[in-house]
Amino acid sequence: MKNSEPVLTQVTNRRGIFEYVLGGSADTKLLNIRVFEEKVKKATYAKQTQAAEAKGESNCPLCAIGHGANKSRIYALNEMDADHVSAWSKAGESSAKNCQMLCVTHNRAKGNR
Ligand SMILES: [Zn+2]
Repeated sequence: MKNSEPVLTQVTNRRGIFEYVLGGSADTKLLNIRVFEEKVKKATYAKQTQAAEAKGESNCPLCAIGHGANKSRIYALNEMDADHVSAWSKAGESSAKNCQMLCVTHNRAKGNR
């Protein structure tokens, strides 16, 4: 399940990461830390889209390896959402090196990890 916090929320509560991990807490307020900053998302989107266009495949890496109609679809930034490459609950940071953009469908499908 995905929480319904606004996606534009800034990542400000770094301490929340440790409280959540160490405490095994289910406090949903701490889930705000999963959100990437807008500039990180934009930079990741630009890099990913450029590479995808060069290869003629979708800028959603999960669409690109699929067999569906979206295999070579280039999504707009507002059709995608940021995903943690390493799950944030396993010390995955909300930083650029841990960010990939997925289409909204795939981001939702990955769920809460
Ligand atoms: Zn996709």
